[in-house]
Amino acid sequence: MRTSEIRNKFLDYFAGKGHTVLDSSSLVPHGDPSLMFTNAGMVQFKQVFLGHETRPYVTAATSQKCVRAGGKHNDLENVGHTARHHTFFEMLGNFSFGDYFKREAIDYAWEFLTVELKLDPERLFVTVFEEDDEAYDIWTKEVGIPTDKIARIGAKDNFWSMGDTGPCGPCSEIFYDHGEEVAGGPPGTPEEDGDRFIEIWNLVFMQFNREEDGTLNPLPKPSVDTGMGLERISAVMQGVHNNYDIDLFRGLIEAAGDLTGVRLGDSNESDVSLRVLADHLRSVSFLLADGVLPSNEGRGFVLRRILRRACRHGRLLGMHEAFIYKLVEALVRQMGDHFAELKESQANVMQVIRIEEERFINTLDKGLKLVEQAAADAGEGGTIPGETLFALYDTYGFPTDLTADILKGRNVGLDMDGFTSCMEVQRQRARAAWGGSGESALPKAVFELREHHGPTEFVGYTTQVSEGVIT
Ligand code: ATP
Ligand code: MG
Ligand code: MG
Ligand code: MG
Repeated sequence: MRTSEIRNKFLDYFAGKGHTVLDSSSLVPHGDPSLMFTNAGMVQFKQVFLGHETRPYVTAATSQKCVRAGGKHNDLENVGHTARHHTFFEMLGNFSFGDYFKREAIDYAWEFLTVELKLDPERLFVTVFEEDDEAYDIWTKEVGIPTDKIARIGAKDNFWSMGDTGPCGPCSEIFYDHGEEVAGGPPGTPEEDGDRFIEIWNLVFMQFNREEDGTLNPLPKPSVDTGMGLERISAVMQGVHNNYDIDLFRGLIEAAGDLTGVRLGDSNESDVSLRVLADHLRSVSFLLADGVLPSNEGRGFVLRRILRRACRHGRLLGMHEAFIYKLVEALVRQMGDHFAELKESQANVMQVIRIEEERFINTLDKGLKLVEQAAADAGEGGTIPGETLFALYDTYGFPTDLTADILKGRNVGLDMDGFTSCMEVQRQRARAAWGGSGESALPKAVFELREHHGPTEFVGYTTQVSEGVIT
């Protein structure tokens, strides 16, 4: 079953259960400054869950574009190294706004997996929050899953909260056992970090409201929020273990192979690069299609960083010229039918990627040499000084995460405090420059605000001061 068919099957199934099927919302969570990118299906329903907004429906289903490459959820470092993480992915979700609760949520999920998709129940493993006897009983007594296929897990993985206060509640997660050939054990065991049991679906039961003082009060209308990774369930359905082996990614990796001459399986290192490229192509293209532009701050800086990491992997595959932009065509072939915004913005997306690539390629080789030189100077177990990290950033356009990625697995540290001090010096210089201009009312106010409140985690809304300065 192709990925696109699985997406449709999911939405059709929940439409058949009376859910209103809605489009994915933008990757930019408009009106929610607390969030860098949309990172889950529930984001477009936040106000509904909070009771601040009502909609003409009480249940809904979506396939939501998500990016987890910044802020609270950041899977960037996992990409290419685990079988199951992307920076961009689609989250299939069904939602109940005060309508059905645990029993139906569990029944639907089980029926969809075992009847609609015909998965072998033997392969499924379930977790519940350790205190959630109700969910445990539904799974064991009503669905009838054997007690050796269910585990009670603590709050870290199985209790969800929207924030420090507000809606929260226990989760129940469904895992797929990819079989003995893969290393790893079921959740709740010491071997769980392996990739054998892969989490496919998270059912969140919004049951409480957490008050300012930390007490949990039952919500008058409990709700349901679920999320299943489309790429992960596609891997299961296509009989592959690694998400990057599904039809959609194969299409992208083949296109990358046509341009680079490197094929999957040539070497472990080039496989990582091909996967990273395919992943980063998706996040960069979809972010651009949703109106994010490369910049030195906030969302645009995350976009730029992802693209520069992709450029470096292109370089590892032997590419000396801009080429990533050409892969957008393959992406549109794979995903443009479902996501019209991608098709519509194809020309713009290609142009922006091309300009970014060309700009960065000019300094890439020199920067790479400098990284190698700095690593050699630092020596085994040594540290690269902040001034060098800053020069790499400021002169060669190497964000520190790129430098760190290049040095991954080598025993060399980065003096991040030193880097921050250099940034600070430049920031002050920029401030001084503005201070004398006589027209600096706004930037000054911005600087003062920042001085009073300190830097915020998400800085996308502050004024950009100059190239190379993250305000
Ligand atoms: P994991 O533990 O594997 O990192 P998670 O618990 O962080 O996943 P949730 O926040 O519960 O994930 O999101 C719901 C579902 O979305 C997951 O069950 C998974 O199928 C999918 N998902 C989450 N993160 C990613 C990702 N980076 N790439 C692909 N799919 C993902
Ligand atoms: Mg995660
Ligand atoms: Mg998890
Ligand atoms: Mg989860």
